[in-house]
Amino acid sequence: MNKAIVVTKEKKVCPICGKTHFIEERCRRAETVIKGQSVCYDQKYYFCSNASGDENEFESGALLNINLLSALNAYRKQNNLLTSDEIVSIRKDYSLSQVDLARLLGWGEATISRYESKAIQDEAYDNTLRQIKESPYIVFEFFKRNQSSFSLDKQSEIKNKIDEKMDSYGREVTARQALMSEYVQFDTPSDLNGNRILDIDKIEAIVSYYAKKIKDLYKVKLMKMLWYADAISYMKSGSSMTGLVYLHKEMGALPVGHNKLLSLERINVQEETSANYDLLIHFYPLETIDYSVLMDDEIEILDTVIRKFKRYQTKQIIEYMHKEKAYSMTEADEIIPYSLAKNLREFKAGS
Ligand SMILES: [Zn+2]
Repeated sequence: MNKAIVVTKEKKVCPICGKTHFIEERCRRAETVIKGQSVCYDQKYYFCSNASGDENEFESGALLNINLLSALNAYRKQNNLLTSDEIVSIRKDYSLSQVDLARLLGWGEATISRYESKAIQDEAYDNTLRQIKESPYIVFEFFKRNQSSFSLDKQSEIKNKIDEKMDSYGREVTARQALMSEYVQFDTPSDLNGNRILDIDKIEAIVSYYAKKIKDLYKVKLMKMLWYADAISYMKSGSSMTGLVYLHKEMGALPVGHNKLLSLERINVQEETSANYDLLIHFYPLETIDYSVLMDDEIEILDTVIRKFKRYQTKQIIEYMHKEKAYSMTEADEIIPYSLAKNLREFKAGS
């Protein structure tokens, strides 16, 4: 990001040298102070290559706004507040305008517009926004209280959206509980779950991340790739990423509750038939997934696993896994303890 340079497509009058030329847009990490806190953000600016002195850069009004927003969002992330994009996505979920969402919550009409542009929401407002993001039932509570602020048409439109959301929310809760029920006996950190209890948000984000980078991602390969991500994470930091517990199966490591995992609402999976009529379980990315649950060092591990196995066929990845000590030192149907992951074969490019 530091030295990203984009050259404008059109020649423009340059306020620095006064000539008309293509102007570079650059980006760097910059620091600023917001509410007494130092914040790092990506700052964009224009650069004039004709200038001789120190004064060789300038910002347009539009860039100024972009920079302000990016500094504010950096502050928000630092303080665990919803970013402006997250606030926008809540309202889009229910097809609400800025004014609509403010009315729904019983706030001043300009409140949401301010939070999406230049003001930082205080904690109480942030909590309310988080609650409605989490649950359509809370949205419904607010709607009942404030529905008279909407026209009858708009009321029924919002009600339909809430209905829709409640349906999928119900399905999601049920699917999560089904998977969690298989992990009741693994509810404390141990060698079996890699010192982490089951983290479904993270599993969903990882599956979508893998599927985004690998076009033909099928079940057996995905299951191995999950194991490798967890095993490497355990090796590096002493804990797995997902808290999944893996069994020694003929085709390599397979997580406990793998079928329930496929039923999660936020895992995008399709059953397809191959040319020779095999049933293929094909994974796709989910557009609405929240990747912010993945830490930078976790993404690094996922990228390593992707680079290694991207081109592997199912058969190859099974054979590769069969040579791991974690596999050869466990018996069929046994749990593969994470402590065996420290014997992991070293990844070599192209091997
Ligand atoms: Zn210039």
